[in-house]
Amino acid sequence: QDELVHGENYKEDPSNELPEKSGARSTFEKLQNDRKTLPVYPYRDELLQAVEKHQVLVVVGETGSGKTTQIPQYLHEAGYTKHGKIGCTQPRRVAAMSVAARVSQEMGVKLGHEVGYAIRFEDCTSEKTVIKYMTDGMLLREFLGEPDLSSYSVVIVDEAHERTVCTDVLFGLVKDIARFRPDLKLIISSATLDAVRFSDYFDNAPIFKVPGRRFPVEIHYTKAPEADYLDAAIVTVLHIHVTESPGDGDILVFLTGQEEIESAEEILKQRTKSLGTRMPELIICPIYANLPTELQAKIFEPTPEGARKVVLATNIAETSLTIDGIKYVIDTGFVKIKSYNPRTGIESLLVTPISKASANQRAGRSGRTGPGKCFRLYTFHSYSNEMEDNTVPEIQRTNLANVVLSLKSLGISDVSGFDFMDPPAQECLIQALKLLYALGALNKKGELTKVGRKMAEFPLDPMLSKMIIASDKYKCSDEILSIAAMLSTGSLIFYRPKKKLLYADNARKLFYAGNVGDHVALVNVYRSWKENDYSHQWCYENYVQVKSMKRARDIRDQLEGLLERVEIELTSNPGDLEAIQKAITSGYFPNSARLQKTGSYKTFKYGQTAHIHPSSGLAFSFPKLVVYHELVLTSKEYMRQVTELKPEWLVEIAPHYYRLKDVKDSEAKKKRPCGEGLGI
Ligand code: ADP
Ligand code: MG
Repeated sequence: QDELVHGENYKEDPSNELPEKSGARSTFEKLQNDRKTLPVYPYRDELLQAVEKHQVLVVVGETGSGKTTQIPQYLHEAGYTKHGKIGCTQPRRVAAMSVAARVSQEMGVKLGHEVGYAIRFEDCTSEKTVIKYMTDGMLLREFLGEPDLSSYSVVIVDEAHERTVCTDVLFGLVKDIARFRPDLKLIISSATLDAVRFSDYFDNAPIFKVPGRRFPVEIHYTKAPEADYLDAAIVTVLHIHVTESPGDGDILVFLTGQEEIESAEEILKQRTKSLGTRMPELIICPIYANLPTELQAKIFEPTPEGARKVVLATNIAETSLTIDGIKYVIDTGFVKIKSYNPRTGIESLLVTPISKASANQRAGRSGRTGPGKCFRLYTFHSYSNEMEDNTVPEIQRTNLANVVLSLKSLGISDVSGFDFMDPPAQECLIQALKLLYALGALNKKGELTKVGRKMAEFPLDPMLSKMIIASDKYKCSDEILSIAAMLSTGSLIFYRPKKKLLYADNARKLFYAGNVGDHVALVNVYRSWKENDYSHQWCYENYVQVKSMKRARDIRDQLEGLLERVEIELTSNPGDLEAIQKAITSGYFPNSARLQKTGSYKTFKYGQTAHIHPSSGLAFSFPKLVVYHELVLTSKEYMRQVTELKPEWLVEIAPHYYRLKDVKDSEAKKKRPCGEGLGI
């Protein structure tokens, strides 16, 4: 390091502290005062000087110290937005939205004006926007239209320690443009001690430390491993609630996903009811990636006097979001993370033990405003002997087809030579190149084809994009867009309340008339909804989730907007199911599977045993040959969103991938080798 910038010798100025509450002050003034109490505030000027002096700066500071909300504002106040925007990336969409909302409040402007956010399928910015929060994936896409990011004066890669695939790819791209754009300021901001690695990677960029104010945290372990961590978490919440006085502080529980959070919420509601009315109120606030926007703000509302808040969160509350007033942390020790096996082609979301680094971050959430307590629902032995030190970066455990297509469209031909901070396994890169070749996105030399260029226009996985491109040939782009949109909502389409399962399932069956699979059912749902003027009532009557449908409509509109760019007309052929099936197959042929004598399926590509997911309309009809949207590993290997197809179609659509002899044979055969010599 040529120089280490830091502000540790700064003495805290007592005048920065929040004065007594007067009640008469406006919200705006109160927010301005709140800003001054954040740990980063005393370092404002020093930080601005460091940015002035250095092109690239690594900023490290405890979560909640004000990096995300304050640094862009400081830079704005210092004039960095006179000739360009400040972009600040977040790995999570909820964080991008919620932080943008907060900063717009602090600046007293309307969200979407001076301060805005952009996440996939949702752009809440305008001409006026000078501080733009966005997901790392969105900034990656912006490179496609603006390879030097010329509209930005500052790029902040925030939450860098999360090391998502998109963040890792951004590192390489911003490092590169910083070389020929000396006017561009680059800040890499991180909550943990990886700072030295970031600094090394960015040619010894100086590190600016924001000393946090961390109070002592008392850590409790369980004596024996917990058989049921969800139940243990609930018991611990209730124990704290009953034994500690409520004014004392709120509770934060780390769980692994939406479903788990929802069931915890339900159980907690029941059990607090049975505690009787003399107990203080327990306000339950869930927070997870797909939580509807209007509920997101609730977790930040101050807890009313005499009540206690319990926040049930996924990993999002580990470093991305800071909720004030937390005194107790309950750490189940698990997280749901993506993993990918290039040998089986299975990408799975698995509940996995967290790393030590995560455990320490989680504990730290309880000691922000005063001494805290952290209840670890695992033993000291497993903490010290079984947990990894750090989480493996996502780039080393994911399917890379999307990343490789983006890099190729940015003109980076040698993807394995790309300046990755931690390079992915060569095997995974080769898999990705082979897939893109099979889809026709790359030619034999590994160069981007015309089809590949078109595919890259869509903010979707390559197979989905290919399906859309192919729909032109089969004259059913209208139906295929509905499918692509419905598959991209990220949430369930059908609503199955426990008390009305029978009604719900009967309603669902109607969409499966003439059943060839789940994709066509999605088209039917969308079409009926549209014919009923997108009505809410229709959704309730048919057990369809209103929110998912609205989101599908938004996504569909955007995809439709992109059709023109790839010179595809909107065509519809409602009666011709075969056309729809063939278009799907054109994108998804690598995901085909054949029925075995045992009643399970085997995938063609990897000979992997799989089952049709019970929620599929084809679950009990056992078609001989299917294509699936995704293969997921839960209790079993399940294919989700499945459509039936004929063996001849595979050969007709992908003759480079399948031979008639192989697809007709009863046993899975080796397929012809493909994608040799892709320039790696
Ligand atoms: P860091 O990025 O260093 O982790 P942040 O800038 O995210 O810190 O947080 C600074 C403060 O802003 C915290 O006290 C946090 O509670 C508050 N804050 C952030 N987002 C919101 C929000 N949407 N609503 C209310 N407060 C928020
Ligand atoms: Mg932050």
